[in-house]
Amino acid sequence: MSVRGLRLSYGHLEVLRGIDLEIPEGSVTCIIGPSGSGKSTLLRSLNRLVEMNSGHALLDGTDIRSMKPETLRARVGMVFQHFNLFPDHTARENILLSLTKIKGLARAEARAIADARLAEVGLQGRGDHRPSSLSGGQQQRVAIARALAMDPEVVLFDEVTSALDPELVKGVLNLMADLGRRGMTMVVVTHEMGFARQVADQIVFMDEGKIVESGTPDALFDNPRTDRLKKFFAEVL
Ligand code: ADP
Ligand code: MG
Repeated sequence: MSVRGLRLSYGHLEVLRGIDLEIPEGSVTCIIGPSGSGKSTLLRSLNRLVEMNSGHALLDGTDIRSMKPETLRARVGMVFQHFNLFPDHTARENILLSLTKIKGLARAEARAIADARLAEVGLQGRGDHRPSSLSGGQQQRVAIARALAMDPEVVLFDEVTSALDPELVKGVLNLMADLGRRGMTMVVVTHEMGFARQVADQIVFMDEGKIVESGTPDALFDNPRTDRLKKFFAEVL
């Protein structure tokens, strides 16, 4: 994906103030930065859950605004902090529904894909469980399996471990690291600096709606150039 000059306001508040970002295929991009800096809004704009006011985001050369939102969301998956699973549906149904509704697959085929994806995230045999009978970590795995089931070109992760009990965080991070190693193109907003350092190909530091610094993990962690990033690391590391 390729983002150029992206601006976005909520009313009079300009939240994204000219974002330029290259997301190479097969890479993991971690976005870090203080609360309120616009990280979630940036992810949401790449999926058109919010509409940018100006600028462009290209997916494989095509402007995302020329696509139907459902088509875009099948190609650019998203995983949220609070899972966003349908509570009245089983894990399998949560995955299967988008396959039948958006991709138009027959139920039997969708069911097979759902079960295969559940197995991939370590949840074989849990397909009949409702979200309420799964741990937070397991629910987040279902949400990840649901995103993967669409065969997306890019997956966006917005603080997906922030709502988990501490002992469940590692398993989900390991799963994400594994996806990254397998070549999934991922954009990951995270407060997990260890994960960012180990897994990211590039790190993007945002503050006040702008990208202040970006580069390899080693460059940013070992040699932060700006006072703002130094201050941020002093607070979180
Ligand atoms: P981050 O994810 O980095 O914490 P957000 O993208 O959530 O930042 O928010 C950026 C800014 O936009 C904040 O000032 C926030 O209060 C504001 N904001 C976010 N969502 C909305 C909304 N739906 N309406 C109005 N303001 C919003
Ligand atoms: Mg956020």
